[in-house]
Amino acid sequence: MFYFDWTIILVIAGIFITAVASGKLKNTYARYARVHAQCGLTGCEVAKRILAANGINGVVVNMTEGELTDHYDPSSKVVNLSSAIYQDTSIASISVAAHECGHAIQDNLEYRPLRFRSSLVPIVNFGSKLAFPMILIGIALGLFLKASFMGRTFITIGIVAFSLAVLFQIVTLPVEYNASKRALQQLEGLGILAGGEDAQADAVLKAAALTYVAAAASSLLQLLRLIIIFRNND
Ligand SMILES: [Zn+2]
Repeated sequence: MFYFDWTIILVIAGIFITAVASGKLKNTYARYARVHAQCGLTGCEVAKRILAANGINGVVVNMTEGELTDHYDPSSKVVNLSSAIYQDTSIASISVAAHECGHAIQDNLEYRPLRFRSSLVPIVNFGSKLAFPMILIGIALGLFLKASFMGRTFITIGIVAFSLAVLFQIVTLPVEYNASKRALQQLEGLGILAGGEDAQADAVLKAAALTYVAAAASSLLQLLRLIIIFRNND
């Protein structure tokens, strides 16, 4: 069985796209982490100001460990900011802090795509654990036990489980873009950004969003590969 599995190109393309997006984010982040915003507010202060301006009183702003670990947790109502974002007054810090508040605003307004995304979390966690073991069991059944029907069933379940993970990443995209849009609106509306700074904040937010697009594209390519292999080995 010496043949070239051309579908591996899809995986390599995915890895390449992901690496380019994450490299771009790191560069953009490093660049604007050095540019101090004229307002002189830290990420934490900006977050608190945005939450207050939107009448969101039940959400706390916390400092969390790690780098670029910033996220909003809808279940505990916490805006988690990494130490650099929390403490610094850079364009990168206030942009990321505002983005996470964008998610808190979505949650407060019961924004549907966020709700839908949150409802997918338990299924996706289960599905992504299940996907590859199912596919491997399916292949093993087909190869060693000649149980082709059982094998096909397991592989199909595995691919469906993986599709759920891909769906989750696709649903994430409008949620992320919308949070960034809200972030810019808040930063501009509350007069936090000075002239020319909005383009810089936009660059940080766009670079961050691009990593989600790359992740979704990469997963989609992997799914495509699984389907092609499965159909070829019918
Ligand atoms: Zn986000």
